[in-house]
Amino acid sequence: METLNSEYQAATMPTYGRIDLSFVKGEGCYLITDDDTHFLDCASGIAVNTLGHCHPKLVETLNYQAKTLWHTSNLYRIPEQERLAYRLAQACSLDHVFFCNSGAEANEASVKMARRFQYRQNKPEKSTILCAGGAFHGRTLGMLSATSNPAYREGFGPSVAGFEHVAFGNLNELRNAMNQSIAAIMIEPVQGEGGANAAPDGYLQGLRDAADEFGALVIADEVQTGMGRTGSLFAYQQSGIQPDIVALAKGLGGGIPVGAVIAREDIGLAMGPGSHGSTFGGNPLAMAVANSVLDVLEEDGFMHHVQQISAYLLSRLTEIAGTYPKPINEIKGLGLLRGIGLNERLPAAELSAMLRAKMVLTVPAGLNTLRILPPLIITHSEVDILCDALTACLSEVSNQK
Ligand SMILES: *Cc1c(COP(=O)(O)O)cnc(C)c1O
Repeated sequence: METLNSEYQAATMPTYGRIDLSFVKGEGCYLITDDDTHFLDCASGIAVNTLGHCHPKLVETLNYQAKTLWHTSNLYRIPEQERLAYRLAQACSLDHVFFCNSGAEANEASVKMARRFQYRQNKPEKSTILCAGGAFHGRTLGMLSATSNPAYREGFGPSVAGFEHVAFGNLNELRNAMNQSIAAIMIEPVQGEGGANAAPDGYLQGLRDAADEFGALVIADEVQTGMGRTGSLFAYQQSGIQPDIVALAKGLGGGIPVGAVIAREDIGLAMGPGSHGSTFGGNPLAMAVANSVLDVLEEDGFMHHVQQISAYLLSRLTEIAGTYPKPINEIKGLGLLRGIGLNERLPAAELSAMLRAKMVLTVPAGLNTLRILPPLIITHSEVDILCDALTACLSEVSNQK
């Protein structure tokens, strides 16, 4: 095992504000350092390690597949890819799945599909993608234009045309922005990076109605919310709407890089051979692991556990917010994508560092939201460890902040 080396570190491009900490092992909800310190992982690699670290079923699948077949390209049929496509399509009441490797790529493909579909409908004027303020859709040139935070775009211009933004959660503003040039509305059912903001009641239904009225598609960006994170397999399912396109990535492979776009049949057919592709997308290794992730999520009682533990986490966080009303403004989010909205005197990065000193890992969302994204397998006693550490941190700061 390599030890940390500052000369080596200097060779990595400084695109991240990294914490000076590294891990040698992962086990369930814990990340472990070389001196055997156990950190409770309530960040999950940013909503990736859905089943925690080194889940025995995933290890078994990965070991088997590593000895059998890794990659063949999409020149040939891939049985595990076809099976995962079928299962994901069934789960979304949609029909066709395209596989890629990341969230940004899944969203890029979603936008291409929406535009191509409108074009094939003889509506080439429908090309604009309507997005929400606070949205995060990825870091490619295209998805930077879909993402609302201008800081992410600084110095990377010119921006890609064809993206507009309206305030998240405001149906009047959304309806006013609708016109015949809108190809699709792209929306996160719960904004992750934007601050664990759940769509207000009725918002997604109103958005679906507005899209239908103007012949626009609905793209659900479930890159962070998908794969059980919010207490249902997909977050949109709790709103009762049916999206036309669903983008997935983070939790889909439990740590293996994989993304997917699930679409209605007529949208898939509007694509056709040669219209899009990915060298790595859907390779046997990634597909075998993603199928295993889905196997576990579909086990009897698994999603019930996620719902129960989500309710327990919410009750404990609500109680803590009641005890510390000064630093905590609100508890946000859904399921196991939770945000603690903080008073501006307590930056989320500061509280996250305090928790880290107590061996609990969390991740800020923006300046003022502390995000809690534990593995879906987290237990009651682990939620207690998180909440006790949080209480201890808040009691230290509550006198000053
Ligand atoms: C993380 C994220 C993305 C980007 O995913 P990458 O794999 O980093 O490209 C897109 N949309 C949402 C909602 C995300 O949370």
